Amino acid sequence: MIANVLVEVGAKSIDKTFSYYVPQDIKDISVGKRVLVPFGKRNVEGFVMELTDSSNVDNLKSIDSVVDDEVILNDELMSLGKYISKRTMCNLITAYQTMLPTALKAHHGVTVNKKEVAYVKVVDKTYVPKTDKQKSLLELIGDDRKLKSECRDYASSLSTLIKKGIIEEMHEEEYRLNSKREISDSKRVLTEEQANALDEISNSLNTFTPYLLHGVTGSGKTEVYMQLIEKVITSGKTAIVLVPEISLTPQLVGNFSNRFGSNIAILHSKLSNGEKYDEWRKISRGEVSIVIGARSAIFAPLKNIGLIVIDEEHTNTYKQENNPKYHAIDIALVRAKYHKCPLVLGSATPSLESYTRAKLGVYKLLTLKTRISKVMPHVELVDMIPNLKKGYNVLSKELIDALEECFNSGEQAIILLNRRGYSTVVTCHDCGYKVTCPNCDIPLTYHKKYNAMKCHYCNYMTYKPHTCPNCHSKKIDEFGLGTEKLEEKFHEYFPDIETIRMDVDTTSRKGAHDRIINAFTSGEYRVLIGTQMIAKGLDFDNVTLVGVVSGDASLNIPDFRSSERTYSLLSQVSGRAGRSKDNGRVIIQGFNLDHYSIRLASKHDYESFYDEEMKMRKLLHYPPFYNLCLIKVIGYNDTEASEESSKIRNYLERNLPKTVEILGPSASMTPKVNNKYYFQIMLKYKNTSDIIDTLHFINNQYKSKKNVNIDIDLTA
Ligand code: ADP
Ligand code: ZN
Ligand code: ZN
Repeated sequence: MIANVLVEVGAKSIDKTFSYYVPQDIKDISVGKRVLVPFGKRNVEGFVMELTDSSNVDNLKSIDSVVDDEVILNDELMSLGKYISKRTMCNLITAYQTMLPTALKAHHGVTVNKKEVAYVKVVDKTYVPKTDKQKSLLELIGDDRKLKSECRDYASSLSTLIKKGIIEEMHEEEYRLNSKREISDSKRVLTEEQANALDEISNSLNTFTPYLLHGVTGSGKTEVYMQLIEKVITSGKTAIVLVPEISLTPQLVGNFSNRFGSNIAILHSKLSNGEKYDEWRKISRGEVSIVIGARSAIFAPLKNIGLIVIDEEHTNTYKQENNPKYHAIDIALVRAKYHKCPLVLGSATPSLESYTRAKLGVYKLLTLKTRISKVMPHVELVDMIPNLKKGYNVLSKELIDALEECFNSGEQAIILLNRRGYSTVVTCHDCGYKVTCPNCDIPLTYHKKYNAMKCHYCNYMTYKPHTCPNCHSKKIDEFGLGTEKLEEKFHEYFPDIETIRMDVDTTSRKGAHDRIINAFTSGEYRVLIGTQMIAKGLDFDNVTLVGVVSGDASLNIPDFRSSERTYSLLSQVSGRAGRSKDNGRVIIQGFNLDHYSIRLASKHDYESFYDEEMKMRKLLHYPPFYNLCLIKVIGYNDTEASEESSKIRNYLERNLPKTVEILGPSASMTPKVNNKYYFQIMLKYKNTSDIIDTLHFINNQYKSKKNVNIDIDLTA
């Protein structure tokens, strides 16, 4: 027998498989398992893609051994990899490696083993103990088996009796995570809107139907997901639930655990390689019916999938930034089609692309218009200009008054500022010098806690200078506002109110998110201050006030999605106020509050926002009217990047149809990161078929040098 094996070899690796002879004594080989094969001077692992009887190559080398007991890439995952490779222009092996946890990738060097535990059992019950120790040992073990580790005090007797064959030692595989969870919650009586949504989806549980569940914040989408899943697992099928990030959605995960107990595998980016390996096998062996996880959980090896849910479907983390640049929604559509099951995309602020698809009937639209608590929070927009004149430059007078009122009635508040650190830039007041990162040419952010300045792109750190490196003036100081400084300023107004902060800097340790959220829920702190991390999905009963500082800041980011992101961020964070009480109040302060994304977010008017934004997108030829393709060219200096990108532009001009718009080359928004220089070319196109062949050609030309990076579909 001959095996065709896919291996990962070097940068130039192509999707070609290599044939090996399968020796007679290797019996357990099958398609989708890993094998160890000789390649050049070493042995490498690869995936068996095909088993055949003959090969037209002579003198084949033999397979060394089979790595896996169980098939890793079943038929579905096998073809899913091929789809990803084609769709994102990555090597097939790269697609498979992305889909699998570290322990199951075809690798060189990394080994993650199954964890085994040793048990002992008395096999010869007629044996008469010779010593007191032996007697106690036999009594300890008793009739059943015992963990060997529990017999530690009798080590020498144990080894004697094992040698004599009186006691037998056996090993059993054990999962590292003990995920026994109790069921402590039962389903709620649904509101009419929830019931309608549930009925609608339940009617198509055995067909491929994508739904967009557009439900305002606090409308009870989670309850709908859970009752659907209950139906699905009762019928013997399984379900995948994607959330933006597990650590940011502890409450949703908690709700699921309380409802479904141990029938869930939770795939968490902070699990160890061993833990991920175990969870993966649990799923693949069919020991759990529900998988909850972030983006990569879409590859969970569940069989017989009956439902896929993607919560907060508009979130940008569902698209992978590195190669392969796949989008979880895209993969979910492929898997749902394969399994003939519904896909439910849920959001209070759907992406423009998804909402358009729903309007066109590509997705079925389901709407939850009312909150469980019946009322939406009241949102006020507060102009900072009059406030500055009165000396309020961080917190507005209006927000301070509202906070006071909130504390007086024993309630809690959330303050959002979407910028971490202490201040944004350190600038010289005499010559205007800005302290920038030597690797990335962007301003460093001052962090008071470390008395250091940090680059948020490459993590470069340096001390804050006392004099200006350019003109030696002493008037060099920080400017702008980050969460760290906001917290300090808050205490100037409210010295006795306890605050807790949640941003990248306070959550780097394992479990930090949970600790912060639990401490705030328990009422230990009155105020939660944070970046967009606090905006999504959290459900605090006692929060009645949400303040947004610099609510217009995200509009200044030069990205065609900045209005959409602003609308979504403001709606999401506003949604944290008054979820169980009827006096929810939101104060958004800033300088440029007339923008439609802010005005309409304050009125909870998604429809009008969608219409306004679509006009802009149409005018400027942006998605969903056009698709965008971004070609990034990387160079070790400015000239190299610029020249190479001009060459590419010329090639594109000659080969693409005239209907495709070519923009650039121009320096990227962050033109220098980690001492590399970035240029970019943007394509606006209608049909992928217009550009795909040309891009494949370019991709292959630069594959080995890795200096051109193509994102074929920024929208998907
Ligand atoms: P969303 O995800 O739409 O923002 P959630 O699912 O978090 O909303 O629901 C908001 C709150 O309402 C939660 O505390 C949830 O337990 C509660 N809830 C949901 N559905 C019901 C219902 N039918 N009856 C009572 N409470 C409900
Ligand atoms: Zn200076
Ligand atoms: Zn940097």
